Amino acid sequence: MIAIDGALVVADGQVRTGTVLVANRKIAALAWTDPDRAALRTQAADIVDGNGHYLMPGLIDGHAHAYGSLLRGTENSLPLELWALHTTLHGRATDGPALHSAIMLGAAERIRAGITGAVDHAPNFALAQTSLAAHEASGLRAAFAPFLHDLSDYDLMDLPIAPDLYALVGGPPPVDADRYTSDFAALVQQARAGSGRVEIQLGPNAPQRCSPASWALWRALRDRHDVAVHTHLLETRAQRSLNRLYPGGLVAAMARNGMLEGRLTCAHGVWLAQAEMEILARHNVTVSHNPASNLMLGSGVLNFCACQSCGLRLAIGNDSTNTGGRTDIFANMRLAMMLPRRAEPDFAQWPKADAVFAAATEGGAAALGLAGKLGRIAPGQLADLVLVQANHAATLAAPPSLDVLVQHAGPEHVRSVMVDGAWVMRDGVIIAFDEAEMLHGAAIQAKLLRDRVADQLLVLMAAFPAMSAQFARDSNSNP
Ligand SMILES: [Zn+2]
Repeated sequence: MIAIDGALVVADGQVRTGTVLVANRKIAALAWTDPDRAALRTQAADIVDGNGHYLMPGLIDGHAHAYGSLLRGTENSLPLELWALHTTLHGRATDGPALHSAIMLGAAERIRAGITGAVDHAPNFALAQTSLAAHEASGLRAAFAPFLHDLSDYDLMDLPIAPDLYALVGGPPPVDADRYTSDFAALVQQARAGSGRVEIQLGPNAPQRCSPASWALWRALRDRHDVAVHTHLLETRAQRSLNRLYPGGLVAAMARNGMLEGRLTCAHGVWLAQAEMEILARHNVTVSHNPASNLMLGSGVLNFCACQSCGLRLAIGNDSTNTGGRTDIFANMRLAMMLPRRAEPDFAQWPKADAVFAAATEGGAAALGLAGKLGRIAPGQLADLVLVQANHAATLAAPPSLDVLVQHAGPEHVRSVMVDGAWVMRDGVIIAFDEAEMLHGAAIQAKLLRDRVADQLLVLMAAFPAMSAQFARDSNSNP
């Protein structure tokens, strides 16, 4: 048993000095009074001094594409539909070693940022074994959600792609349902035989990118394996225009077809109407809010206040590193807190620190498929815990509070990180894996990947002006 003693424990929205006992991967007990704390210390084989630190539940990255960690420095000044040409091209050129490096690079960044778990919404099912092995090796908690899709937004939007470019980034191949079914079953079985930190989810890329047959497969596999589901939803204005393909709109169609349920997380939701938020809330769906990514791609801003007022559960994500920028959930919490204030004159509606912190922890747990089991410091919860400096020049405050933690802390203040009851970083040193060796390998893989796509980028650049002009015309004519 491990006792973390003397830290400012963030529990139930309050910050109090206490002692937290960890045993068998879970939080076993909390104590606040001197005698109770002393009693917990006597039970522990290992007592960790938490003085001068906040002890908070691990932050959860509620929407990520792990392969993107190797794509830093690629295109990030275009709207999603055009940006995705670059990203898809790099994604399809990502081989097993590159993917392994990307996942481990992202894991090191997350650990250092106090992020203990992430949803990896993954485009390449064929490399699922590589992903699973890397997530296991990372020491972090992960939900691995391989894409399911058989339609392309470019086709749905009548956005013509030159044939040579279409061959590189165009529509996905048809889904072989039998093969997908058996591969998915094997993956679920394999993950469930592992550490318990890595769960498999279904990852339909987006509802409009799935044919009716793929919606049926999504429902069938979800129910057969009792897995959570992660999908993109209404991220951009152009996607909103595709609502015309579904009577009553996409969300209403999902409700009619039994796609909405409590283990579904939808990323973005920027273009949800209030009535659609209410439908999602009624079905206990989680929406993963990605403010930095949505700003970078010019997608818009989720109406956080409207989500709150209809009781829709939110998580917070950073999305792919080549759009969300540095994987920093502290920064995303602050964006989530501040962005609604520019458009909402009723300041009583403005989200506060406790709301965005709950989204980044308890909401994130729901996105991981672990609603109610993770995301709080309370007996029985999974022990994913982070020690954050409270006496740093940027964080010292009297009195210390959750407001201070959310408003002032960042990755640079994260000192020690525990996942599933085991330390993955102590005093600023990652112990889950050899970070220096990982960085060396990732640098090599990033360079190899960039070399592999050099010629393909020329194809993209040749086709780009015409596509870009067409997209701009369509955007201007969209309501
Ligand atoms: Zn995404």
